[in-house]
Amino acid sequence: MDYYGSLMSKLIEQLSALPGIGAKSAQRLAFHIIHMPKEQVDQLTGAIQNARENICYCKECCTLTDQELCPICANEQRDHRTIMVVENTRDLAAYEKTGKYEGVYHVLHGAISPLLGIGPADIKLKELMLRLQGDVKEVIIATNSSLEGEATAMYLSKLIKPAGIKVSRIASGVPVGGDLEYIDEVTLLRALEGRVQL
Ligand code: ZN
Repeated sequence: MDYYGSLMSKLIEQLSALPGIGAKSAQRLAFHIIHMPKEQVDQLTGAIQNARENICYCKECCTLTDQELCPICANEQRDHRTIMVVENTRDLAAYEKTGKYEGVYHVLHGAISPLLGIGPADIKLKELMLRLQGDVKEVIIATNSSLEGEATAMYLSKLIKPAGIKVSRIASGVPVGGDLEYIDEVTLLRALEGRVQL
């Protein structure tokens, strides 16, 4: 791609390294960017840098936030004794969009996958176990219904049940292998309401 000159090629290369951006989209974006007003480019790069530097894990639920506690954990109106365990922040956002869940969350940032060599120590499991030493009534496991999500749910329930805490799993209305973030709110709510105790 040297016919673009090295600066343009570098921009295209950086953009095509992003998930879901193929070579063609990267070229299109690169051309769009160099034709953008300079202030707009500054705003874009500033937003990227600012987000990268200031977004961290909530010290309670491990979701991504720019505060010590995310808005959900900081909200005293939420039921802090009910914890829904999800694989990532996008899943949390999907449940929040339903507007019906009153509890709090725990974000694992992944799922156990022996195939990919991802073990319990590679996700935010230790942080969850620490939280369970507090006053917790129920843990709702809302990991995806993929192989990894199911393995994680099984592992979690074996780990948590002996502590005498109620453990439930969202209903299997969620399609197998389906990512939670792509499922509509009605299906999510149904899955939550139809959860079964493990
Ligand atoms: Zn939080």
